[in-house]
Amino acid sequence: MQRFQERTVLITGAASGIGRAAARRFAEEGAFLVLVDRNEAGLAETREALPAGSEALLRTVDVSDEHAVDALVAEVIEARGRIHALCNNAGIAGGDYSGITETDTDTWRNILNVNLLGPVFFTRAVGRHMREQGGGAIVNTASVAGIRSGAGGNAYSASKAAVINLTKTAACDLGQYNVRVNAICPGLIETGMTKPVFDYARERNKEEKLGSRCELRRYGRPHEIAAAMAFLASDDASYITGQALAVDGGNTASLNLPG
Ligand code: NAD
Repeated sequence: MQRFQERTVLITGAASGIGRAAARRFAEEGAFLVLVDRNEAGLAETREALPAGSEALLRTVDVSDEHAVDALVAEVIEARGRIHALCNNAGIAGGDYSGITETDTDTWRNILNVNLLGPVFFTRAVGRHMREQGGGAIVNTASVAGIRSGAGGNAYSASKAAVINLTKTAACDLGQYNVRVNAICPGLIETGMTKPVFDYARERNKEEKLGSRCELRRYGRPHEIAAAMAFLASDDASYITGQALAVDGGNTASLNLPG
């Protein structure tokens, strides 16, 4: 499939995990990539992992810096003419399971700045261009933690719930301009973010437990999220907007009652 031939796709959080897998997937489908991350070395590694002949612009930007985001989007529009798809994927985990009465304000601000305001800044800047261009697709990486609590701590969960509603709000604002906005809600995926969880389980020979809450009885791989991102960003999803698609092995389909 070459669904992104002649198309420019901007991916944030492209230096690792799901973003790197997405970069590969979009490149395999012919996209010109704009890869964004605050980790410069990781971005270079992602470029190395792309298929031969892939075209990519790498930019080291903090997604929570609105001026840097505006400047980057202006630069890309100047260079490429338009952005066909935006994947708001950069994110950070909370690492704070102390509970709502304990989580400190810095943790809340830090997580909301990256996980919520990052997608807000990019959606605002890119959405203006897509509105003028008469179309485009935005895919936000939310999480099953945005649907239910219990993964990633309360600030992380709240930030991802906000991303799901940002998705719906932006879809309503931009639908009349043929701009589609959707979210993916990954379940547990092995990436840099979840490395401590995997290390902990493997050290105790309990890796199989990591998938035990999923109906498919296994955890997910970054390329499985990338495939769903590419679908939602492509014309194959031309009548889908404002949706949050759980890609979680069935994790949120069940109440997961003990037994
Ligand atoms: P990851 O840590 O491997 O990748 C996240 C990337 O985002 C990193 O390259 C990091 O440098 C970048 N990043 C973080 N803050 C940034 C900032 N301020 N500016 C620019 N770049 C920044 O983790 P991942 O699992 O690939 O995460 C990708 C997305 O998937 C995140 O939004 C995460 O919340 C979401 N997610 C992951 C899982 C999972 O199980 N791994 C599950 C649900 C949702």
